Amino acid sequence: MKVLKKEKFPQIWQAINQAYELYLPIEKDDRVNFAQWTEGETVNLEALKTEISPKDVIFPQSETYLKFESDGKKLQLESVESENREYVLFGVRSCDAVSFNLIDNVFLREPIDRLYEKRRNKGTIVSLACSEPEENCFCSSFQIKPEEASPGVDVAAWDLGDKILWKPVTEKGQVLTQKFAQLMEDASQQDQEELIKLQNAIKEKVKELPLASVDPKVIKGELKEIFESKVWDELSQSCLGCGACTYICPTCHCYDIQDFAGGNCGERFRCWDSCMFSEFTLMAHGNPRTTQKQRFRQRFMHKLVYYPNNHGSYACVGCGRCIEKCPVNMNIVKVIKRLGGEG
Ligand code: SF4
Ligand code: SF4
Repeated sequence: MKVLKKEKFPQIWQAINQAYELYLPIEKDDRVNFAQWTEGETVNLEALKTEISPKDVIFPQSETYLKFESDGKKLQLESVESENREYVLFGVRSCDAVSFNLIDNVFLREPIDRLYEKRRNKGTIVSLACSEPEENCFCSSFQIKPEEASPGVDVAAWDLGDKILWKPVTEKGQVLTQKFAQLMEDASQQDQEELIKLQNAIKEKVKELPLASVDPKVIKGELKEIFESKVWDELSQSCLGCGACTYICPTCHCYDIQDFAGGNCGERFRCWDSCMFSEFTLMAHGNPRTTQKQRFRQRFMHKLVYYPNNHGSYACVGCGRCIEKCPVNMNIVKVIKRLGGEG
């Protein structure tokens, strides 16, 4: 276990940035989001949650597959290889770190998504424990422990005021630590004791959160029964279909593939999509989901029923972003409670 003093932050950002691409929570126009660091950026590691989850670092919002050019009846295809270097993603909260594993379950199972695999393998993830969880957090409902190193991270870090306690937990984490060890010190017995105090304090705070008792296991019954529940008619009425909840959600991973063509050349790219949009399932023969109720139901059935049936865990990490951002105050907590018979 190592200690990184905060006064060394500018030095370590610079040093990491020379060897890797470095992504940090960056503050711009009063908003904090993960972005690639460059000299002079305002790094904000105090903000608990970034507005958009860091999933766009492992799964970019838009990505080009290939370029094409036509010459009469001949079509020439050129595959586009990602030029990205290895990267470090620093300051990921436990909920967001777990969401990466949930997306892996989809993209890294056969048939493996090669673009995603390549980008994912280049990353070293440094988590930062949540010293001050907020009122909309309910990660504990999904057995996430914000005081501990989440499964899948390479380095776990804790904020001890004027320093960060730094614990490599994978080989990649060891490599990163060794590269920058000259900027760190060994953790003392007192640091270890402070860590235990901090972890206990976080556990207590999490227990006291207003949504700590949300429990997705209250949703019982056969798939057909849940699918046909009257609850969907009522809850979907207010939904605007704006898709905001899907774009900010760390676990949503649907995408569309489109061609951008001009004259005799163009490119094929993929970009994030939303199951809340009316054209999401539009196909040549028509659209199997023609109402907002069907689309709304799909989003929550996927997170709370289909994904767990396929992968053994819920596709929500309780980050609370949808609670904060939905313009009509609809969110997964309301859905869980109503499907569980409350209200
Ligand atoms: S649930 Fe809210 S954020 Fe999501 S699409 Fe509907 S109105 Fe928009
Ligand atoms: S559904 Fe809402 S609370 Fe759950 S992971 Fe997505 S944004 Fe976070």
